[in-house]
Amino acid sequence: YTAKRNRLGVAVYDPSADNHSSQQLSLIGELRRAIDEDELVLHYQPKVSTKTWRVVGVEALIRWEHPVRGLLQPGEFIPQAEENEIIVPLTDRVLTMALHQHRIWRAQDTPLPVAVNVPTVCLLDETFPDRVAKALAASGVAPGALTLEITETSIINDPVRASKILTELRAMGVRLSVDDFGTGYSSMSYLQSMPLNELKIDRSFIRTLSGSHGGTAIVRAVLELARALDLDVVAEGVEDEETLILLGHMGCTYAQGYYISRPVRASDLMAWLGRPALETV
Ligand code: C2E
Ligand code: MG
Ligand code: MG
Ligand code: MG
Repeated sequence: YTAKRNRLGVAVYDPSADNHSSQQLSLIGELRRAIDEDELVLHYQPKVSTKTWRVVGVEALIRWEHPVRGLLQPGEFIPQAEENEIIVPLTDRVLTMALHQHRIWRAQDTPLPVAVNVPTVCLLDETFPDRVAKALAASGVAPGALTLEITETSIINDPVRASKILTELRAMGVRLSVDDFGTGYSSMSYLQSMPLNELKIDRSFIRTLSGSHGGTAIVRAVLELARALDLDVVAEGVEDEETLILLGHMGCTYAQGYYISRPVRASDLMAWLGRPALETV
C-alpha cells in the first residue's frame, strides 16, 4: 500500500509509487466478492463506564474471513479500500450488519448501542445521510442506538461539506463521535460548529498515563474541553487496571481497551457480558 500524505494528513493514492498495482486490483476485486459472499464479519469491542464497568455500547470493527489468507484485520485492507469506490458498498454493508446485530441483541433484552466507523469519502458524500436513514428504516433500529465514528482529518478536509452532512445525520437522531481525537493536527475550532456528541481520546495519549510516563496533561486538557463543550469522552486503548482507575479519578466517564475486552465476535460478547440481560444506559 503506497499513499502519500498531503498537507492535511489525508492519504492520497499515488499510482506512480505503487509497485504492486496488480495486487491492489486483485485485492479490490476480492473485496467485491467478499461483500457478495458474506466474508466480511464484525467484531465488537465494548465501551464501559470507568466508574461502574457497566457496558454502555459497543464499537463494530470489521474483519475479513478470507478463504485462503485466513482472518484479515482492517489494517490489511481498509486503507486500500478507502482509495477505491469499493469503500461505499463496504460501509453500507457494515452499517447493515451492525444494525442487524443490534436487532438481535434487542430481541435478547440487551439493546446495546452500536458504533460504526465512517470513512472520509462518506462524510463528503451527500447521499450518505440518506443511505444511513434507509439502513435504519430497513432494520427498524432507533437512530439514537447508532453512533457514527468519524475522524478529525475527514472533518478538516472539507469542513463546510462535512458540517452539512453531519448536521443532517444529527437531525436524524444519530450520535456523532470524533475518533482518534488529538491526532488530526487540526485547529479544533470545528468542535464548536459541528453537532458532535462524543470525543474518543486517541490511544497514543492514553498510553502515557500509566507507569513512569506520567503524561496526564493532554488527557486533562481534552477532558476539560469536552466538559466545556458538553461532549461525552471515551478513552481508547486502555491496556491496564492502573490506567482505567486513573481515568475514573480524572473524570473520564467511558473507556475502551484490551484490559476491558478485545474486540470479539457477537457470540463471545454475550459470554463476556456473563448474562443474557443487562442494563444499558
Ligand atoms: P479505530 O476505529 O480507532 O479502532 C480502534 C482500534 O484499536 C481497533 O483496531 C481495536 O482493535 C484497537 N484497540 C482497541 N483497544 C486497544 C488496546 O487496548 N490496545 C491496542 N493496542 N489496540 C486496541 P482494528 O480493529 O484493527 O481497527 C483498526 C482501524 O481500522 C480502526 O481504528 C478503524 O479506523 C478502521 N476500521 C475498523 N473497522 C472499520 C470499518 O468497519 N469501516 C472502516 N471504514 N474502518 C474500520
Ligand atoms: Mg473507531
Ligand atoms: Mg479510534
Ligand atoms: Mg485510535
